Amino acid sequence: MARRRQLYEGKAKILFEGPEPGTLVQYFKDDATAGNGAKKGIITGKGVLNNRISEHLMLRLHDIGIPTHFIRRLNMREQLIREVEIIPLEVVVRNVAAGSLAKRLGIPEGTRLPRTIIEYYYKNDSLNDPMVSEEHITAFGWACTNDLDDMVALTMRVNDFLSGLFVGIGITLVDFKLEFGRLWEGEDMRIVLADEISPDNCRLWDAKTSEKLDKDRFRRDLGRVEEAYQEVAWRLGILPEATNSDMKGPEVMQ
Ligand code: C5P
Repeated sequence: MARRRQLYEGKAKILFEGPEPGTLVQYFKDDATAGNGAKKGIITGKGVLNNRISEHLMLRLHDIGIPTHFIRRLNMREQLIREVEIIPLEVVVRNVAAGSLAKRLGIPEGTRLPRTIIEYYYKNDSLNDPMVSEEHITAFGWACTNDLDDMVALTMRVNDFLSGLFVGIGITLVDFKLEFGRLWEGEDMRIVLADEISPDNCRLWDAKTSEKLDKDRFRRDLGRVEEAYQEVAWRLGILPEATNSDMKGPEVMQ
């Protein structure tokens, strides 16, 4: 079987050349990192689960008219996506104080924010993804005002929709990170949602117990990391019937 050309390897994913021009194959690894690579580990089965979870969420977002790079899932660890020009920003959306916001501003984790807050970080590992403002973004040409307007409008719709979706399965969407890309169709350009949406880049807390069901279990050495990802997948209804919701750790077929 002909091997595809690898275009890029990131911390959690690999991008390969796609079968047709303008497409890529996104491969989900089990590798986990925290603190910009300072902490490394493997979360067994994470790639399989994130592939499924991200597929599910991207499809639901597509249904409500959010343009995304997602085309279709190919197999357990791979999905076909549209090739986009990635905007070098991480758009972080916060509904509840946690993580770096809680630390930076001294707000106790778990405090519901007076309103949703959007922050931008410049995607640059060697600089540790510094937080930037609209001024930096437009001055340095990473995105123009129109791009930013589109990104903010899409981000707010994604947040409203996903917050509701997760409430429905007993989960609070505390915060998450989105990435966007420019999709060129001839002369026309559209901003579309890219990357992935999964417990790797969302904080998801059980609505009743505030138990963490996301990558913070790995970042903070809380244990039962695989089980948390499985729990999210199970609640979303994308794990086989045979598995169950308690966090004792149902096996996921690879
Ligand atoms: O660490 P911090 O509190 O700023 O993270 C906010 C949100 O953005 C979290 O849900 C985290 O998972 C996500 N994030 C990410 N990738 C980064 C930084 C943050 O997915 N490089």
